[in-house]
Amino acid sequence: MKKCPIFSQIKAVYLAMSHSAMKADRSPDEVRLIVVSKTVGIPAIREAAESGVRLFGESRVQEARKKILSEEIMAMPEKLEWHLIGHLQKNKARDAVQLFEVIHTVDSAELAEELDRQAEKIGKIQRVLIQVKLSAEETKHGVSEAELPELLKTTAELKHLRVEGLMTIPPYLENVKDVVPYFRRLRGLRDEAELKGYRLPELSMGMSHDYEAAIEEGATLVRVGTAIFGERC
Ligand SMILES: *Cc1c(COP(=O)(O)O)cnc(C)c1O
Repeated sequence: MKKCPIFSQIKAVYLAMSHSAMKADRSPDEVRLIVVSKTVGIPAIREAAESGVRLFGESRVQEARKKILSEEIMAMPEKLEWHLIGHLQKNKARDAVQLFEVIHTVDSAELAEELDRQAEKIGKIQRVLIQVKLSAEETKHGVSEAELPELLKTTAELKHLRVEGLMTIPPYLENVKDVVPYFRRLRGLRDEAELKGYRLPELSMGMSHDYEAAIEEGATLVRVGTAIFGERC
């Protein structure tokens, strides 16, 4: 695969994002790009930051920790914001609360309660999203649609957690048209919850393969790695 400079890939993604937003009668600044830097080294992260990116997504706490606390990243003039987009185990909640501005993958009351405890300890209100599992794939994490109302109720009572929206990872389907129903469903679930009084402005959905469709369906956060850094080896 031909590898283009990171800044030109980022520019292309921003352009496509604006285009999709406008196509859906949305303002382009309603949608933010999370550059997914998992498996990517610090020089590439720096290059992305120099291209204007401030939001980065990591999948694993330990890998993220190494990068976020590295001298190179700490010394950068740009203030970066890190989001956890991968599954979180309860025993890593303490680290996660220290490292991440937003955790996209809350999928159980136990995890939410642990994050709340850890956030309280450091006097932080932890911003989170609830990950919803919309397909039957065994390998995917996330709360089921049926259990979502209960989890929303539990998390709303936690004083050091602020639930800001929903996240999903649809199955990989070659034809993007087939992914659209999943995006629509997530938005529907959000809208239903808002009718019950929750405020859930954020919809984290869409990756390299399908972020344009996700934006047309209401995404506010898209998580893009491969389209910027190339295929992961
Ligand atoms: C890796 C990953 C992404 C980015 O996927 P690309 O296809 O490389 O854009 C997005 N979201 C999650 C949860 C991921 O794990």
